Amino acid sequence: MSGAESDMAKTDLKNFTLTELEAFLSGKGKERFRATQIFKWLYQKDARSFAEMTNLSKELRAELEETACISTLEPATVEVGGDGTRKYLFVLEDGAGVESVIIPDEGRNTLCISSQAGCAMGCEFCLTGTYKLTRNLTTAEIINQVCAIRREVEVRNVVFMGMGEPLHNLDNVIRALKIMLDGNGLQFSNRRVTVSTCGLPPEMARLGREVIVNLAISLNATTDELRDRIMPVNRRYPLKELLQACREFPLPSRRKLTFEYVLMGGLNDSLADAKRLLKLIHGIPNKVNLIPFNEHEGCGFTAPTRQAIDAFHKYLIDHNVTVITRESRGGDISAACGQLRGRLEGRDS
Ligand code: SAH
Ligand code: SF4
Repeated sequence: MSGAESDMAKTDLKNFTLTELEAFLSGKGKERFRATQIFKWLYQKDARSFAEMTNLSKELRAELEETACISTLEPATVEVGGDGTRKYLFVLEDGAGVESVIIPDEGRNTLCISSQAGCAMGCEFCLTGTYKLTRNLTTAEIINQVCAIRREVEVRNVVFMGMGEPLHNLDNVIRALKIMLDGNGLQFSNRRVTVSTCGLPPEMARLGREVIVNLAISLNATTDELRDRIMPVNRRYPLKELLQACREFPLPSRRKLTFEYVLMGGLNDSLADAKRLLKLIHGIPNKVNLIPFNEHEGCGFTAPTRQAIDAFHKYLIDHNVTVITRESRGGDISAACGQLRGRLEGRDS
């Protein structure tokens, strides 16, 4: 049996939150504080083997060696864009590919990670959506994207804006968030971690109950008519329900929900849209991210004109909305969020 095969039966400790690791160890009759020690080895010292964990007894290390394993991811390829954006492709054990992107910003890197291989939500404008859902990522596969990239660069912010709908893989996303936010884990401040969703109200409520994290909503349309058309999820949860879920989302004081709005030329970029957007988000502590559509083949939508972007942006500013226009980053290497497909060109031969 190869090493990889023998690992299959072993328990990957990267799938556990600290609480779950404690339960796993206490099931083996070990002390609770061993879990904290191991967690620190995994996430603060990036240990890849039990042999490194020198503050554990030889016996415990040997026992873990028998029953548990520590997974890791290494990027298969890295593409660097003209603006310093870097796109990493990870090939998972079953051959599925997922991508993560580092977006540099004056030393404050933002890492955009994936939660699923593909996506089931089928938004019409989104490249990931056209690839359907291959499968959910495991907790370990989500967290290992962060671990792998932290080896190369400092990661200041993490956003779940890569492949997949994070709230459609909520168990694993919540576990990964708990590991990221844990003071014994990756130690991210909850201000620096953002989950982005196309809008699933029941899952938004559960996320809010279980962790404190920033939430971004991909709104992208201001009428049910248009949103039904470009985001099928809206047929199940129309705008009224989605915005009610936004109102109910528990925000720490002075925190805001982010509304993402992909501007598509002639489709949703008029001043009438800006006006409706303003009305929809009224009363919710909000900021708006305008994202000019990134054109890609196999989809008829077009980028907005500079003029339309500026006019939309100005309308919101003039009405006291905090708005940023996310200039398309990494466009030359298709590394923009929502442009990820996790497939290596020419690899299938
Ligand atoms: N599924 C989640 C997170 C991943 S998509 C969500 O939909 O929020 C991340 C963002 O990329 C979303 O706001 C989405 O609207 C946007 N996006 C998708 N395709 C895009 C494209 N071609 N150009 C610009 N933004 C796009
Ligand atoms: Fe999925 Fe988000 Fe793309 Fe929609 S925009 S298909 S939810 S990844």
